[in-house]
Amino acid sequence: MNKKYITKGSLETEKLGEDFAKDLKPGSILCLYGDLGAGKTTFVKGFAKGLGISDRIISPTFPLIREHDLPDGKKFYHIDLYRIQNQNELKELGLKELFSDPNAIVVIEWAEKINDLLPQNRIQIMFKHATGSADEREITVEKYE
Ligand code: ADP
Ligand code: MG
Repeated sequence: MNKKYITKGSLETEKLGEDFAKDLKPGSILCLYGDLGAGKTTFVKGFAKGLGISDRIISPTFPLIREHDLPDGKKFYHIDLYRIQNQNELKELGLKELFSDPNAIVVIEWAEKINDLLPQNRIQIMFKHATGSADEREITVEKYE
């Protein structure tokens, strides 16, 4: 499955994230790709809202992972690998456990930094500046099962 969306402003990207959260299986792994400012964290804000999380969402910098409680007792993990320095930091994230945890929803910004480690079963979302106005983004969703 491959779907393309155009959003015209950050609120539309948040809304896309929010809607996306609503029909998602627990255990899902979302890999977000795109340059700085492409809209990944904006999407995650809406996504977290859609999951029923009211915490303020900012990209994790140190540590590179942030855990949020879901209303049903499960967990949402927000990872941002932009600043990852070395393999030790990667180990500390405990990705293997997260990827095999059926009660975890995991979102990874800059997933390209760990392409080799990503599970086959994942959703990839690509963010790009669109060719129209400065506030347009092209967002492509691909599901691998
Ligand atoms: P990233 O996490 O990919 O680095 P952010 O979501 O932190 O990107 O930042 C995106 C920036 O672009 C924000 O300042 C946001 O307000 C702005 N923006 C403008 N138009 C859009 C859009 N259509 N979707 C998402 N963000 C947008
Ligand atoms: Mg970000």
